[in-house]
Amino acid sequence: MEQDLKIFLEKIKDRSQTYIGYPAATDFNYTELLPFLEYSLNNVGDPYIFSNDMQSKQFEREVLEFFAEYFNAPKNNYWGYVTNGGSEGNLYALYLARELYPNGMVYYSEATHYSIQKNLHLLNMESIVIRSQPSGEMDYADLEETLQMNRHRSVIILANIGTTMTEAKDHVPTIQSILKNYAIKSSYVHSDAALSGSYLPLLGYHDFDFAHGADSVAISGHKFFGSPITTGVVMVKKSYKERIGRSINYIGSLDTTITGSRSGINALIMWYAIKKHGRDGMLRRTMECVENANHLKVQLNALGIPAWTNTNSFTVVFPKATEEICKKWQLASDNDISHVICMPGVTRAMLDAFVEDMKKSKQ
Ligand SMILES: *Cc1c(COP(=O)(O)O)cnc(C)c1O
Repeated sequence: MEQDLKIFLEKIKDRSQTYIGYPAATDFNYTELLPFLEYSLNNVGDPYIFSNDMQSKQFEREVLEFFAEYFNAPKNNYWGYVTNGGSEGNLYALYLARELYPNGMVYYSEATHYSIQKNLHLLNMESIVIRSQPSGEMDYADLEETLQMNRHRSVIILANIGTTMTEAKDHVPTIQSILKNYAIKSSYVHSDAALSGSYLPLLGYHDFDFAHGADSVAISGHKFFGSPITTGVVMVKKSYKERIGRSINYIGSLDTTITGSRSGINALIMWYAIKKHGRDGMLRRTMECVENANHLKVQLNALGIPAWTNTNSFTVVFPKATEEICKKWQLASDNDISHVICMPGVTRAMLDAFVEDMKKSKQ
């Protein structure tokens, strides 16, 4: 048994040195939270409703308070919870949208994360895929045309704030102005901000938050903030959530989250990450990542590789790398492109070693 764990630890230690293709920060240290691992903390149900003392809901509420400000949520009209990841946040938001508009048609771009299709299937919601521009951003002309054909339906739009492959951001104010132009009365816009939403506010980019037309926002906690356990946050307008609370009250007003039992450790981890870094530390980490992405792009361009980035992004996109490189550096590839995501914890030394491998593979 001891040997099994030892071998496994050695393996992940080694593989973490070349982990640059997926968006998980690795620069975290939660050793101060270790004593809490000796207890079973369960934030079951609603974060605002007391269950018992073996939970960390007071920390969870502070996390929500932070994100309410971060995402310009309406004062005294926000609600949310710490999830098991971005996908659960998206599932909750789509569930809320469906309860508000049972006849709604969902629109999302072809660059959308794979989990959305599964969520829509689970929720039995009708949907239409909108074309993407080459950057990965939604093709608004296609959105307009498609909306026009379905004007009688309520509209639910899933905006990508950082697409999976190219980290493109769908522009929520543009989406809102299209909805207005076509005089669409009932609409709901969800920002799937899993990766980029965690740091964009620090760079002064807010075109996906509540003040800019979103009805809900979801992020992943293990991406930018970093966590040994997958986690996330979903935030919605409280008035919406209360409306579904009433319409589905046979579930019982306490059971407002997707899962019943929820990890109390996750809420502590999110709280600790926010407190420990502070806004200054978070901005410093963000700037480093943006600079690293730019550094990598320049290095690859110097080799004649047409690498590119979207603005305010950690993701460097380039023509599909060789199988050997994709395997060693754990790169995600889709069709003809690969990407490196310069997350906190990815060092210049790692990037330079990667560039060296790319150089060799060209020869
Ligand atoms: C990562 C990601 C998700 C899924 O988040 P998980 O935390 O892995 O569940 C959803 N959408 C986008 C755009 C993502 O980048």
